Amino acid sequence: MSKLRKVNQENLKDMNSQIILNCIRKYKEISRIDLAAYTRLSPTTISSIVSELISKGMVTELGIGESSGGRRPVMVGINPDAKYVISIMLTPKGATYALINLKCQIVEQNHIDCKANGESIVKDTLINCIDDIFRQFPKCKEKVCGIGISIPGVIDRKNGKVFFSSTLHLRDFDMASIIKDYTGIKCFIFKDTDSLILGEYNFGTCNRYSNFIYIIVENGVGMSYIHSGKLFNPSFVGGLELGHLTIDSNGARCRCGNTGCLGTVVSEEPAIKRLEKLIKKGYESEVQDTKGIHLSDIVAMSNRGDKAALYVLEEQARLLGIGVANVMNMFNPEMIVIGGSLNKCKWNFLEQLINVVKDRALDTYSSTAEIRFAELGEESALLGMANEIYENKIFRALEL
Ligand SMILES: [Zn+2]
Repeated sequence: MSKLRKVNQENLKDMNSQIILNCIRKYKEISRIDLAAYTRLSPTTISSIVSELISKGMVTELGIGESSGGRRPVMVGINPDAKYVISIMLTPKGATYALINLKCQIVEQNHIDCKANGESIVKDTLINCIDDIFRQFPKCKEKVCGIGISIPGVIDRKNGKVFFSSTLHLRDFDMASIIKDYTGIKCFIFKDTDSLILGEYNFGTCNRYSNFIYIIVENGVGMSYIHSGKLFNPSFVGGLELGHLTIDSNGARCRCGNTGCLGTVVSEEPAIKRLEKLIKKGYESEVQDTKGIHLSDIVAMSNRGDKAALYVLEEQARLLGIGVANVMNMFNPEMIVIGGSLNKCKWNFLEQLINVVKDRALDTYSSTAEIRFAELGEESALLGMANEIYENKIFRALEL
């Protein structure tokens, strides 16, 4: 009986400690008096737990705050250097990686260019990113509480495995275990659009919306969905495969084995092929062939007024608009965010896409939903992963 009571008291103290830590994080800078008011815990409990959090290095005193009548209070906040996360966004063209502190601020961000193609190169690239961070910040290693890796592909979130990534040439790849064995640090695998939407939601202006969609167009077409303020996970395996929505039953063969998927007409490869065809037909363009060209180059060319590039991207706007109209009819979101290279278009790409959606989606939905470009770039994915890892490991929501 006495043992049971002791365990409960310890649990209670842990719960109070978690409530206080989460509250300090929420308000960023707060006095012990306000902590007591917001958490409804006694001033003695607040004082004791805050002292313990300070001695553990999780919380720090920030200085003297404004008085609300009596003595001016000492403010406390999260110690940004208490913990770190390493976030890596892996694409077929390379990896962008960052060390991110407990306040979700990027301490260091770098990029490695490489053709991430197959298990061996992917593993080496990830290890190079992690080693580079540890080389630059050796004292941070023991404070890293998680490594987040975002990839395009079908993943098993729970077990950190990549089932299939056609663009990275991976199949049944036990990515989290490999990185955990190398570093001794827990590794979390994210679908690329999941990390991007989590970043836009937590660090962009999208937190005003509780139902919105993120669509990325790059090497394929990906999509994620925030539903009622939470990332929508249809299951622990895979996600929403917009790129494999059939748009033309007689269309070209897709990497998934089907024909006429949206990704066969919208994304980098079809855009390059289209550009190549137009150049051969004699369309005016600043390039003579498409060797070494990426979607981002076609966007840059279109911004300079390149006629062939503009033609290609106007077609991409129309075809993507059909896909977006389907998404609009299916999910009825408050907003659809378009990410990837296309959001660098400095002409009316978005307006052209919106016109197609208005033509094709149900009026009730398309007249109320907003469609816009993503606000944040790759840092969105890096921050989105760090935030999710911290909420999983440090700022856990209490389950009562
Ligand atoms: Zn497909």
